[in-house]
Amino acid sequence: MPVFISSHPLVQHKLALLRSAETEPKKFRELVREMAILLIYEATADLALEPVTVQTPLAPAEGKRLAEKVGLVPILRAGLGMVEGAWQMLPGAEVWHIGLSRDERTLQPVEYYSRLPVSPTVDVCLVLDPMLATGGSAVAAVDILKRWGARRIKFVGLIAARQGVERLSRTHPDVPIHLAAVDEELNQASYIVPGLGDAGDRMFGTG
Ligand code: URA
Repeated sequence: MPVFISSHPLVQHKLALLRSAETEPKKFRELVREMAILLIYEATADLALEPVTVQTPLAPAEGKRLAEKVGLVPILRAGLGMVEGAWQMLPGAEVWHIGLSRDERTLQPVEYYSRLPVSPTVDVCLVLDPMLATGGSAVAAVDILKRWGARRIKFVGLIAARQGVERLSRTHPDVPIHLAAVDEELNQASYIVPGLGDAGDRMFGTG
């Protein structure tokens, strides 16, 4: 499945501001929300449409409406920052949260929260996480959604490490990946370099 790196000038302009250590949490949240809008716009370009007739003040008009139900699946906690922007584009989307933490002994992601309904209620799931670092959380989130029965899944993030992209696309080759940038390196603590630091801390002012 393809990896889409947005070359949109607005995405790239906002990305540089987002990376800057001088960007304070209020501005950081605003940029994450705005970049989510732009990336969701690109990630939903292939959603199916169906015909609809609406009545204008003058006459009936043929139009189109979305034929697929979309679910937003933010990975806690940094994925929360992308929900508001995604919701602005998809106000009818359901939001299903998945909480994953890293077991410090095994370094594997551990699911600590997910409340998905018994069977899928949506046609397309958009997994939201600004940072795709090792790929462990993204792979685990997609595993959970596939076990749940999700048929179409896309990953939407802001910055990835090459390693994370490779792991996600190797493990789940059917999941397209939408990003603003891919950085070369991960440091010893699994932070993306140059990246932007800890997205959750910068968003919530906890750094
Ligand atoms: N999560 C973050 O918030 N930043 C990184 O660089 C990697 C994972």
